[in-house]
Amino acid sequence: MGINNPGFKMKKSLLSLLFLLSASNVFGSADSEDVKDAIIIGAGLSGLNAARTIHAGAPAASMLVLEGRDRLGGRTWTHESVEMGGEIIDTDQVFIQKLVKELGLKLDTVKLDGEVFGLQDGQKLNAGTLSQTLGSLTRKLTVLQKTLSPVENTTYCDNQWSYAALLPRLKLTDLELRVFRAFVQDDAGHSLDETPLVNCSLWASRFAEYKELLDAKSSFLKRQFLKTYTFQYRVQGGTIRLCEALAAALPAGTITLNTPVSHITRAGSHYRVATHGRDFFARHLVVSAPFSVLRQGGLMDMDALGLPHEVQNTIHTMPYGVNGKVIVPTNDRAHINYFIDASAGTAGWSNPKGVTFIATLPNQVASCEAAVGAMGFTQSAPSQSVFWSQDPFARGSWSTMVAGEDAHGVQTRYTPSHQLHGLTQMAGPFNNDSLFFVGEHTCDGVTKIKANNNKTIPTGYMQSALFSGHIAGSYLGEKLKK
Ligand SMILES: Cc1cc2nc3c(=O)[nH]c(=O)nc-3n(C[C@H](O)[C@H](O)[C@H](O)COP(=O)(O)OP(=O)(O)OC[C@H]3O[C@@H](n4cnc5c(N)ncnc54)[C@H](O)[C@@H]3O)c2cc1C
Repeated sequence: MGINNPGFKMKKSLLSLLFLLSASNVFGSADSEDVKDAIIIGAGLSGLNAARTIHAGAPAASMLVLEGRDRLGGRTWTHESVEMGGEIIDTDQVFIQKLVKELGLKLDTVKLDGEVFGLQDGQKLNAGTLSQTLGSLTRKLTVLQKTLSPVENTTYCDNQWSYAALLPRLKLTDLELRVFRAFVQDDAGHSLDETPLVNCSLWASRFAEYKELLDAKSSFLKRQFLKTYTFQYRVQGGTIRLCEALAAALPAGTITLNTPVSHITRAGSHYRVATHGRDFFARHLVVSAPFSVLRQGGLMDMDALGLPHEVQNTIHTMPYGVNGKVIVPTNDRAHINYFIDASAGTAGWSNPKGVTFIATLPNQVASCEAAVGAMGFTQSAPSQSVFWSQDPFARGSWSTMVAGEDAHGVQTRYTPSHQLHGLTQMAGPFNNDSLFFVGEHTCDGVTKIKANNNKTIPTGYMQSALFSGHIAGSYLGEKLKK
């Protein structure tokens, strides 16, 4: 595999010294033979795939991948065989599925045949039972909405009173209540009792729609539903296998770990990429560090780099997403296929090794453990947690911003569609096709576009990251071949 890992071998300082001794260009201008054709910043999925695609298109091109962490993968991280970041691949994410197979890897299917929906207590419902339950929930909610007096409507709807007050009037069976609870928990992120009644008719129509999808003859429609409520695939052996396979396609020595980039600027017609040990120079730059890192890490002088206003705006307004992931290993291997109500408002799901929670604060580990305990599971090992917001190379992550828009919904699609194909929304290329931004938020989830009537969709997927790398890499590979 093409990795230099100074940190792993505890030789970082020695290596830096060697760099200093050998490089005539430290903090100065570049000797032309020292200028790489392309430097890729970051060895996450997008950066790795960009590098791999450039190499496939232009095998003679000189290239470096500079990675700040001591490992590959970025916001995917298979830690002791547990996924602490990107993990799930949806059934309709065909680009990533195809890539995984091309790289000689396999996918594990997570969904269990005929069992489409798991309740909080682990009970599985088949499609028929679920459809029936959704039907009766729709009816009861519709009736309730109609029977509310004008006063009640004002009290409950306008004042956003919660279902807690009205649940008894719905007269739900135990199963209906549990299904209702599970869906609301998923969608709204808080419990049914806290959900404002203003959503009453909304939930009625949603359940009707879900039922229609479940009953549909078309397996495509059925899948559309299932993909939302069941997990589909994981890379066999963990997402790390995907990262390793991407890296293995690169020439030896292409990737350098433990090399945080501290600043990027222009040096004549080249880019100067400063790290703690030395400066690197390149004719083309692919930046895969998350926008929150670019903004808070002060990595680039955006005016000096000639970035258009819309792109600067995107970088400055990219919101933070979900920040932490907590895995509570349980000694029960039953596949708990659905979200669990953890007392602090966290949501969780199952992982082969235990129960996974998305949390926002480190102190939520305890509440996640309590939630598992409340389900009757005991822990088989200490919990594992990662707080991406505190990681200097992520600085928060997993935002659900729409690719090509800034946080205020302003279109920032930049790539002219005649230059790169399709509906892809990439930030770049800039400066005479020499600077590219890649990463999950620069790219639509491609295959989903059609399914959503050509609307843009929230990104934040491994597939988007890989596809953005593929687009930039194909473009540069073609250019550098010449
Ligand atoms: C908790 C969690 C769960 C998720 N679950 C899923 C899921 O189930 N399915 C799914 O499809 N997606 C999921 N995702 C999203 C998925 O992980 C990301 O979309 C994807 O990994 C992003 O890849 P990227 O290349 O865009 O960014 P990154 O992975 O962040 O890659 C950027 C790289 O740049 C490096 N870097 C940053 N700053 C510097 C610097 N200054 N110098 C050098 N290197 C630097 C970083 O270390 C990193 O390696 C999840 C994410 C999280 C956090």
